[in-house]
Amino acid sequence: SLPTGLFINNEFVKATSGEKITSINPTNEEIICEVEAASSEDVDKAVKAARAALNHESWRDLSGSDKGALMHKLADLVEAEKEVLATIETWDNGKPYESSMFDIVEVITTLRYYAGWADKIHGSTIPTTPLKFAYTVRHPIGVCGQIIPWNFPLAMAAWKLGPALAGGNTVVMKPAEQTPLSILYFAGLIAKAGFPPGVINILNGHGKDAGHAIAAHLDIDKVAFTGSTATGKMIMKTASVNMKNITLETGGKSPLLVFSDADLEQAAKWSQFGIFGNSGQICTSTSRVLVHESVLDKFLVLFKEAIKTLNKVGDPFEEGTFQGPQVTKAQYDKILAYVDVAKSEGATLAMGGVPFKGVGGKGYFIEPTVFTNVKSDMTIYREEIFGPFVAISTFKTEEEAVAMANDSTYGLASAIFTQDIARAHRVADRIESGMCWINSSQDSDPRVPFGGVKQSGIGRELGEAGLSAYTCEKAIHVNLG
Ligand code: ADP
Repeated sequence: SLPTGLFINNEFVKATSGEKITSINPTNEEIICEVEAASSEDVDKAVKAARAALNHESWRDLSGSDKGALMHKLADLVEAEKEVLATIETWDNGKPYESSMFDIVEVITTLRYYAGWADKIHGSTIPTTPLKFAYTVRHPIGVCGQIIPWNFPLAMAAWKLGPALAGGNTVVMKPAEQTPLSILYFAGLIAKAGFPPGVINILNGHGKDAGHAIAAHLDIDKVAFTGSTATGKMIMKTASVNMKNITLETGGKSPLLVFSDADLEQAAKWSQFGIFGNSGQICTSTSRVLVHESVLDKFLVLFKEAIKTLNKVGDPFEEGTFQGPQVTKAQYDKILAYVDVAKSEGATLAMGGVPFKGVGGKGYFIEPTVFTNVKSDMTIYREEIFGPFVAISTFKTEEEAVAMANDSTYGLASAIFTQDIARAHRVADRIESGMCWINSSQDSDPRVPFGGVKQSGIGRELGEAGLSAYTCEKAIHVNLG
């Protein structure tokens, strides 16, 4: 049976409120189970556990290599149960089983990557004036609140947990209320791996209750969040109550640029992958495609072909399915509403725009949706839709392409398709985004920093930067005179 309690001090407990949240399988709209929903009181309990663990010798005085060993142990347990975890992820989120498995592997590699950092955290020595010098040491930030989205539940949990643990912090994590099940199962593995009680606490709950309580708690030192820009702004405001350290990874409207000299077949395939992957529910999804006007017709033919051959919509447990359902009815409704908006503003519907009813008529499936003739003042050019929905526009010059790409309040990712090496690096340099792919889309790696500029976020996850975000440097001045 699936764990459904609040994970505090290495034990599953009931919520004080007695409130529960129903988990629904988006493929068949059936109830999976009921999960405890934390109140602010429960968050407070978890924070007390995390604070005690932070100062307890069993964690505080554990060497970096022993911390790393615990993290490797956790990764081993995930590896041993990866089929179970992937199955739960697909039930709860609806993503294809193969994608869930891809995410689980990412969880393992991320935990191992940061396990390797755990014994390599140190400061530096800085000569200052004669007979004086300073040295620095790196401390944990403290008790870290981590608020997880529903699009990559376990992977986002690992991105946040890995550096927090390597840095010696303790954690109060809240999964998204739509998709808590894989993370709660993972919580059971945390206890099994042998982490001291209170180091990692995981509470399912609503954003406005448990999420808000984390952002507002006076004894939480940092809050890390992945989710929508609107919620990110709210959390930032709330977190100012005690000037929490913040890491925010929010929305995007990432452009994919197809220049006239691009390998159009490659551009078409990566466009399909970058837009419809995870049913379009990726913050870095390349949801605006900007194509040089001279190659638009050819690109569209290849793009539609790529969708036909690579983008099988269907039951996420069926082999070969690329696109499963949207995560919830609310998301499904929101995306379909954008179809009407796009039509009324004069964009051309080239494909899809309707529900997909091929899985027994049930589930929150939407056909891959393509709009062309999209102008920069249209809603679908500007707003993050978070669905299998792409807006295609044209440009005439490289300069115009860059200006159009940058004409957004977001700046998360971008992709450039060209065979001209100088143009590739020139555009990559000028584009306003935290990440840029040249002749590719959606690559990420635990070693490479991930994050946005503008309203796509603050700070970086992954890589060395992601670790720095979970340590704080103390400077100690020494007088030898
Ligand atoms: P969506 O709108 O797509 O559900 P959100 O960005 O609101 O996405 O949700 C991402 C995460 O943030 C979830 O875990 C959610 O519960 C949490 N959350 C939502 N609202 C708040 C809030 N006011 N304070 C803290 N966390 C929140």
